[in-house]
Amino acid sequence: MTITTATLSGTRTELPDDVLDQFRAQLRGEVLTASDPGFDQVRPVFNAMHQEKPALAIECSGTADVIDAVNFARDRQLAVTVRGGGHSVAGLSSQEGGVLIDLSQMRAVDVDVEERVAHVQGGALWGDVDRETQAFGLATPGGVVSDTGVAGLTLGGGYGWLRRKYGLSCDNVLSAKVVCADGVLRTASPATNPDLFWAIRGGGGNFGIITSFTFRLHELGPIVAAATVFYPMDAAEQVLRRWRDHVATVPDEVTTELVCVTMPAAPELPPEIHDQPCVVVAGVYAGKDLDAGMRALQPLRELGTPLADASQPMPYSVIQSDFDAFFPRAAFQAYWKSVYLPDLTDGAIDVVAAKARHRPTPLTLVNLLHMGGAVARVGEEETAFAQRRAPFMVSIDGHWPDPAQNAEKIAWVRSAWDDVARFGTGEVYLNFMGLADEAPSTNVDTAFGRNLARLAQIKATYDPGNFFRNNNNITPAS
Ligand SMILES: Cc1cc2nc3c(=O)[nH]c(=O)nc-3n(C[C@H](O)[C@H](O)[C@H](O)COP(=O)(O)OP(=O)(O)OC[C@H]3O[C@@H](n4cnc5c(N)ncnc54)[C@H](O)[C@@H]3O)c2cc1C
Repeated sequence: MTITTATLSGTRTELPDDVLDQFRAQLRGEVLTASDPGFDQVRPVFNAMHQEKPALAIECSGTADVIDAVNFARDRQLAVTVRGGGHSVAGLSSQEGGVLIDLSQMRAVDVDVEERVAHVQGGALWGDVDRETQAFGLATPGGVVSDTGVAGLTLGGGYGWLRRKYGLSCDNVLSAKVVCADGVLRTASPATNPDLFWAIRGGGGNFGIITSFTFRLHELGPIVAAATVFYPMDAAEQVLRRWRDHVATVPDEVTTELVCVTMPAAPELPPEIHDQPCVVVAGVYAGKDLDAGMRALQPLRELGTPLADASQPMPYSVIQSDFDAFFPRAAFQAYWKSVYLPDLTDGAIDVVAAKARHRPTPLTLVNLLHMGGAVARVGEEETAFAQRRAPFMVSIDGHWPDPAQNAEKIAWVRSAWDDVARFGTGEVYLNFMGLADEAPSTNVDTAFGRNLARLAQIKATYDPGNFFRNNNNITPAS
């Protein structure tokens, strides 16, 4: 059956049966249209607000399929979208009527224990990485939800529980294989295409499709010291102030963040917190000595009178999936906004606490992340990821089930963010920015700052026609 597909210029073009059949015969993976069984099983995205369906889904089984997919789409000037884990809050791995290049079949993780590196395919999830690396007592910094994709998170920076000790996910990339817009597979490393290597560490999906990353690994776990303390929302101001004062003194081993959310009445949770709005103070100690770790985390347990305290040494892999239950795929509408703070003044705390208390839905989160440590030891121009100096970030994660409420809930997030952003640096974390009616290039200039001009030059080298544009898009320099 002939299908019509969106093109890069915004028109539509026909792809007749014989063209599709010939393309199918070339690939090991599947090429699916809406009438094919399997089309509805393509890896679903996290954000139910962005369920746009492609005209053609290419389920790549390996690098050769990725190269053929890029050449097929580029030769016909078709609009493409790349999907790794599908967790883009902004919906940047969905597009109506275009060509989806989906890497969900490419999840292999190969650990080289002697070399202390992991080779990770471009469609892997963080749970895949943790499973393989933890088997050898090793880890690389990933996100805090096991279902999130490695590729999108790493290309945009990557904050997790190891950031203060070992840096961002992108800081731990030693090299990557990239299929660029010309269909050529390139290595990006300090020795080979160093400009490309610089750009993919923070510059998003602008430069090509990563078929595999090589990550540096660190000794960690399998058991690590962890704090999870549930304070009542009524005490938010006090808990935030004490947390701020305490984190100024913590060693790099301690990474902590604070999540304001209403806890579900889940049987595995203590009954004291069922349906209770809480300030959840969480922390991980990235060191071997569990006693020293629990001692270092103890002050996080004394910021007030907790409703419950689940702090204890735990398997790192369990910590890495602790928040999973809050984030099922395709379950609700999501609109997030983030901003970095140069400090956490009493004024900022009062506003953040007020927003946390008046969240519009129980599963809307107001998060405060502590940065610094290894994140801040990398220069702002050493990688494309420029936001290194701010010690705090606030992320407001709006979640609700009913699309009919989109306008109202998005308006709340925007207004809450405006109020918090008055205390901010003006810079945002692109991986924590939702898009509703904003263009994908929104915030690109503030996020990349002084690195934007160099990124535009590199974009012009590797993707002069802006073939990869459904991302936080960088316009190629002319
Ligand atoms: C529930 C949840 C939890 C999160 N937790 C964290 C966290 O702890 N820390 C953090 O820093 N961020 C976190 N994020 C944000 C996350 O970093 C971004 O959403 C990121 O884009 C997800 O990557 P992905 O591969 O799943 O995304 P996708 O939706 O697949 O892709 C996102 C972008 O990356 C591009 N892309 C994907 N794969 C490739 C590839 N192989 N090659 C080239 N381009 C590619 C896509 O085209 C798109 O532009 C979280 C997001 C969610 C929804």
